[in-house]
Amino acid sequence: MLNQYISLIKEGQPVAFPTETVYGLGADAQNRNAIQKVFKIKGRPADNPLIVHVSDRRQVQDFATDIHDDAEKLMDAFWPGPLTLIFRKKPEVLDIITAGLDTVALRWPNHPLSQQLITQTGPLVAPSANSSGRPSPTKPKHVKEDFGDDFPVINAGETNIGLESTVLDVSQEPYRIYRPGAISAKQIEQVIDKKVEITKSTGDNTPAKSPGTKYTHYSPTATVRWMTEDADLTDDSTLYILHNRPQKTTTDNILHYQGDYERMAHELYDRFRQADHGNFTTIAVEPFSKNLLTKPMVSPLLNRIEKAIG
Ligand code: AMP
Ligand code: MG
Repeated sequence: MLNQYISLIKEGQPVAFPTETVYGLGADAQNRNAIQKVFKIKGRPADNPLIVHVSDRRQVQDFATDIHDDAEKLMDAFWPGPLTLIFRKKPEVLDIITAGLDTVALRWPNHPLSQQLITQTGPLVAPSANSSGRPSPTKPKHVKEDFGDDFPVINAGETNIGLESTVLDVSQEPYRIYRPGAISAKQIEQVIDKKVEITKSTGDNTPAKSPGTKYTHYSPTATVRWMTEDADLTDDSTLYILHNRPQKTTTDNILHYQGDYERMAHELYDRFRQADHGNFTTIAVEPFSKNLLTKPMVSPLLNRIEKAIG
């Protein structure tokens, strides 16, 4: 089933494939032309570096140097899985991957098809398989919405987690999370027995060390905003997304996740895209109170929603 896709990648043609987080747009990490196509297909700014996806711990050494004990512990604990690690790079890593930085981002995704694919093709760069700025794809049809019906997509139905990986810079101390994801700061700290810093997603004017974090992201055409406390949920051009406040009835334009943040993460980008198809002009999301932030998936959800609000 994968043979035709393996051939395409070997010929330098990017292919969309499933991971446990979102669908990735894969291209051979050794092929500059193929990687150029990835930037072109997505409309991705050239200064936004790509994550290299591996299928084996040994491949890390082909891209990274200074792989220290903490990094080994993190790979032991969380790979394959939704944690991207940023290392100092080997000089031979293509500049187009790293946008000229002296670091490289690596991840071993945990999905049987990505595993089979990368085992056959070798390491792949793989940003999310969406047009730059749009919500990441969690279903094959999302990829086709952005790249056209004929675009090659390895179909594995819906992805499991639904939000992109945690990005953790271990190239210098203190280690820093640039993007929260399913692996939390607390889980990371427990493994290495050190505190990690977290880059705030808004209000930070320092030059971006993770260039991608400065761009608008995850946006549907509808305007995303925080719901006000007194919202009466009666505007039918607004999709209301609730997760915690009491609400007995739900309708086509009122979703309630009842504290199930994993399900909310799993569905968020699909809901964003559905809102556009359903002609909602606004998506109003219930704000997250501080006491919810320790719950699994709440901090990545907050990050993506803040980014979509812009
Ligand atoms: P995406 O592939 O669209 O999920 O985005 C990858 C994210 O990883 C972006 O926010 C990039 O800026 C970030 N990233 C990739 N490589 C590096 C790197 N070497 N240093 C810092 N951030 C990186
Ligand atoms: Mg992306």
